[in-house]
Amino acid sequence: MAAYQFIDHEYDAVVVGAGGAGLRATFGMVAAGLKTACVTKVFPTRSHTVAAQGGIGAALGNMAEDSWQWHMYDTVKGSDWLGDQDAIEYMCREAIPAVHELEHYGVPFSRTADGKIYQRPFGGHMRNYGEAPVQRACAAADRTGHAILHTLYQQSLKHKAEFFVEYFALDLIMDPNTGECRGVVALDMETGQLHRFKAHQTVLATGGYGRAFFSCTSAHTCTGDGNGMAARAGLPLQDHEFVQFHPTGIYGSGCLITEGARGEGGYLTNSAGERFMERYAPNAKDLASRDVVSRSMTMEIREGRGVGRENDHIFLHLEHLGPDVLHARLPGITETAKIFAGVDATKEPIPVLPTVHYNMGGIPTNYMGEVLRPTKDNPDATCGGLMAVGECACVSVHGANRLGTNSLLDLVVFGRAAAHRAAELIKPGTKHKPWTESSGQNSLDRLDRVRNASGSLRVADIRLEMQKAMQRDAAVYRTTKSLAEGVENIKTVATKLPDMKITDRSLIFNTDLIEALELENLMACAAATMVSADARKESRGAQAHEDFPDRDDENWMKHTLAYVDDTYNVTLDYRPVHTFTLTDEVEYIEPKARVY
Ligand SMILES: Cc1cc2nc3c(=O)[nH]c(=O)nc-3n(C[C@H](O)[C@H](O)[C@H](O)COP(=O)(O)OP(=O)(O)OC[C@H]3O[C@@H](n4cnc5c(N)ncnc54)[C@H](O)[C@@H]3O)c2cc1C
Repeated sequence: MAAYQFIDHEYDAVVVGAGGAGLRATFGMVAAGLKTACVTKVFPTRSHTVAAQGGIGAALGNMAEDSWQWHMYDTVKGSDWLGDQDAIEYMCREAIPAVHELEHYGVPFSRTADGKIYQRPFGGHMRNYGEAPVQRACAAADRTGHAILHTLYQQSLKHKAEFFVEYFALDLIMDPNTGECRGVVALDMETGQLHRFKAHQTVLATGGYGRAFFSCTSAHTCTGDGNGMAARAGLPLQDHEFVQFHPTGIYGSGCLITEGARGEGGYLTNSAGERFMERYAPNAKDLASRDVVSRSMTMEIREGRGVGRENDHIFLHLEHLGPDVLHARLPGITETAKIFAGVDATKEPIPVLPTVHYNMGGIPTNYMGEVLRPTKDNPDATCGGLMAVGECACVSVHGANRLGTNSLLDLVVFGRAAAHRAAELIKPGTKHKPWTESSGQNSLDRLDRVRNASGSLRVADIRLEMQKAMQRDAAVYRTTKSLAEGVENIKTVATKLPDMKITDRSLIFNTDLIEALELENLMACAAATMVSADARKESRGAQAHEDFPDRDDENWMKHTLAYVDDTYNVTLDYRPVHTFTLTDEVEYIEPKARVY
């Protein structure tokens, strides 16, 4: 094997990822006096958070009466009772100070006439425990994520956080004796040098794995790297079967048209020109939860009422809102519609289709960001030395289905919570335990194997086969047959990985190599998703199982834990949902039928 050498660093904490979650955690830790490094494969402001459009949820009550208890109720109901209610209570309560904090940091929110933060309605967010839609999504036009990410980056610079930009994190360094995390290995993509970061706490903030599917709204960088690293460290991936389809991806390209478009009064029609959501969700109509709207659209298309030459999509109408509203509130998506659908949204409807958008599942954590390594006796046992925040984590506040605007919220609330927890756990300057000679060796072996791969299949071809199988077999509607086929298909693709071919052997900006490493992470995510979905014999939130159309609380109100081994075999286990609250200021919300 070629000789690789490490450059070693010591920090109190190292954060992997510089999206909303990673940045909030990073500068929170620096502010608490911890020596913190942030390692990121793309420049911070290019993280996928920049693309978030519609808003961040908080019951500020600026435009109409609202309360965080209503927000909590909506989130529990949206999660289809798979969310942990202690964590949901924490998030919805902390939402209000978290958004005010963002305002003070300088996020340029849109404003009401009297100068307050502008709020728009969003799917599943209701007044008075489900009565009617409420205006809860705090928005900066339709570029909320852009505004938040840039502000968080500025705060990080102000706090003098240390960044390692275009460093690709390869693997966690685990203590072989205690099973605790002791740091991370990363490749500097520009120079090809390898780095070991020793840390008391390592924080994964690597985002989602939308790119396991063929058509998704997320960036090409959303490849589930943190989930892959956790799986290789022997940690479980939780609730991976729950993949959110956003109702309005542009037909063809998959680019997102925010739910804020329907929040502003947009609506969907079928080939008869009918506003069909009135039939499926008489109260919330076009603002029902995302899983509900995506299923309704799929039913319309299946029953022959889709629009277009092949009756295979749906129309989203915004033209009645008028150019002034579109220009002021939805300028970005008006432009997106023009570029990616060739449509002038002020005059004609936009062709849309449900598209993969968000991963509810991820690395299991508690509400303080600490990663769990459940044991027989303690399903909430922590791993030690490891945290996860943002889309790669599963706290679980979104359960089986996330409400729009609750992810941006999740990033800042739990990014901050992780910083607070790290400050409690680490005394600045505490001496590091020594590493063993072999720390990071697993990572070098993997890098060397992939770099020298000389099989017969191109990375892009294996990836495409995986993406098509996921799109086909783990779709909006699933059946016993589609999932069984899916498990076999993903297994077959996984067996092709050892036969992959890398043409460029260099370590310097070798995109072929990076994509191969990302593919291994995606494959772990895909296998966990398919096997977990196949095992769950019920319908709940984003898992719509046609052979088991009802929710089955007695047998299935539990979190899935998927352990993925080096050959992508998956072993399943389960842990209970938290059916308790954090304080006695709210009561546990009992499961009931979920209607909108
Ligand atoms: C188009 C779109 C619109 C959305 N709109 C909204 C909205 O309006 N409201 C809402 O609440 N949610 C929205 N969401 C969801 C939300 O934006 C995402 O869930 C959230 O931004 C994810 O943030 P994150 O910090 O977890 O990860 P990301 O922003 O995806 O950042 C991941 C970071 O990890 C780094 N990274 C990854 N792998 C590695 C590695 N191997 N080594 C080093 N670094 C690595 C990357 O460089 C990056 O900095 C939207 C999502 C999309 C795709």
